Amino acid sequence: MAFTRMLRCLSRSFTTVSSISPRVCIVGSGPAGFYTADKILKAHEGAQVDIIDRLPTPFGLVRSGVAPDHPETKTVTNQFSRIVQNGRCSFLGNVSLGSSISLSELRGLYDVVVLCYGAESDRALGIPGEALAGIYSAREFVWWYNGHPDCRNLAPDLKNTDTAVVVGQGNVALDVARVLLRSTSELAKTDIASHALAALEESSIRKVYVVGRRGPVQASFTAKELREILGIKNLYIHIEEADLHKTPADEEVLKNNRINRRIHELLSKAATSAAPFPTLGQRELHFVFFRKPERFSESDARPGHVAGVNFERTIIREDVGSGKQVAVGTGQFDDLECGLILKSIGYKSVCVEGLPFDPRNGIVPNIRGRVLSDSTGDLTEVEKGLYVCGWLKRGPTGIIATNLYCAEETVASISEDIKKGILPSTSDPSSKPGREGLLQLLDSKNSTVIPFEGWQKIDAEEKRRGCLKNKPREKLTSWQELFEVARK
Ligand SMILES: Cc1cc2nc3c(=O)[nH]c(=O)nc-3n(C[C@H](O)[C@H](O)[C@H](O)COP(=O)(O)OP(=O)(O)OC[C@H]3O[C@@H](n4cnc5c(N)ncnc54)[C@H](O)[C@@H]3O)c2cc1C
Repeated sequence: MAFTRMLRCLSRSFTTVSSISPRVCIVGSGPAGFYTADKILKAHEGAQVDIIDRLPTPFGLVRSGVAPDHPETKTVTNQFSRIVQNGRCSFLGNVSLGSSISLSELRGLYDVVVLCYGAESDRALGIPGEALAGIYSAREFVWWYNGHPDCRNLAPDLKNTDTAVVVGQGNVALDVARVLLRSTSELAKTDIASHALAALEESSIRKVYVVGRRGPVQASFTAKELREILGIKNLYIHIEEADLHKTPADEEVLKNNRINRRIHELLSKAATSAAPFPTLGQRELHFVFFRKPERFSESDARPGHVAGVNFERTIIREDVGSGKQVAVGTGQFDDLECGLILKSIGYKSVCVEGLPFDPRNGIVPNIRGRVLSDSTGDLTEVEKGLYVCGWLKRGPTGIIATNLYCAEETVASISEDIKKGILPSTSDPSSKPGREGLLQLLDSKNSTVIPFEGWQKIDAEEKRRGCLKNKPREKLTSWQELFEVARK
């Protein structure tokens, strides 16, 4: 026994990190998953990497989040496809952590499990009326127009109202506002889901209010996205000039922050160059600052449906504890009538059984990607062989490229742990079954796995259908159709 242990120790100390053959499972095939796979394959010549995803289609929010009119952003999927075509990497679609397989089963099969399953839930406002019909999270609305199979039947009513309110002032808020306001002849040339295009073609929505509790100085748009929406043809734009006045604290923020300064300049320019009134039938975009939603009101004519939102006016104060600028209520209220509300106040990750989770921040507690155990209430204990990356690790912020740096950090932790011999079986290639064991287990549960070749069939069919309509692809949006095509 002692001899075997010694032999193991010796072989560990003579093994270089790159010659070790860890079996790695990555959960989630969004940017975090693919960048992690790429880094592991490059760092460990013997590594075998399997990427599982609950959907039959890969690429996470690049497929189901990025706006249809941003095709250039989606070209990153070419790079991701090359990663999965490496002989040591595989994509296994329709495998859901938590339902197809449990976390403990997965950890039993692989030396290393990296959780990259993003943020598939929403933060709530927690105010009265939030459950009324006509109120959606931006995530649901985005999934709907991007053809995510879970939201194809959302059917937001765009016909019985001329006004939509988007709560939140980040880039996702601008994406959903832009999709509502952009001409459908332009959208028709994109990969927007056909059910969404049909609904937008019949839409009565003419006015979109993008509302935030803070001011233009604090808005978290990026200049590119703001410029794009301000540049929509024949759009009436309204911003209260009074909202653009700067306090000394604002001046200080703008002095030190180039991006915020640019946003303020763009909004100021839009406010001063806007026409005094909209022309008949012209679509309108209103930026409304310093308003905090207090409650949603119900329609008398359509019981159970939203009729408007009551806002409290706010002012910006410095928080004594954090020194941050925060919005505080003034006790003054006003109402805005509308028939559609899109809450763009942040995505939230969900927990799976057996996973340490920080519900307050909606992330998996970690140090540089190593998952911390909370079983003893002591968060400094590390879960051996379990790592996290992407939105599940940092929270729902950052662009696609941010996940590249995030993956670098997580993979550096994995390599360090392998080098130190912390992952017990990585120097013994026969100890964990990896892919073979996973496929056997899924087979025993009668689970249908969609391999990358299945996705390639979906991809080819979507492009073929798109070609007939002069668009890059016509997305398959039902689970049934996705399976049928993938398994042809
Ligand atoms: C609306 C929107 C628009 C955006 N637009 C841009 C843009 O234009 N440019 C840009 O650079 N960035 C954009 N971003 C940001 C970018 O999309 C994110 O930074 C990135 O997708 C986060 O990567 P991720 O891998 O952590 O999560 P995700 O991309 O969400 O990937 C998570 C994956 O995990 C899978 N999954 C979920 N649960 C399970 C489970 N239980 N088992 C197995 N698999 C599971 C999901 O199906 C998904 O494929 C946008 C984000 C949003 C929300």
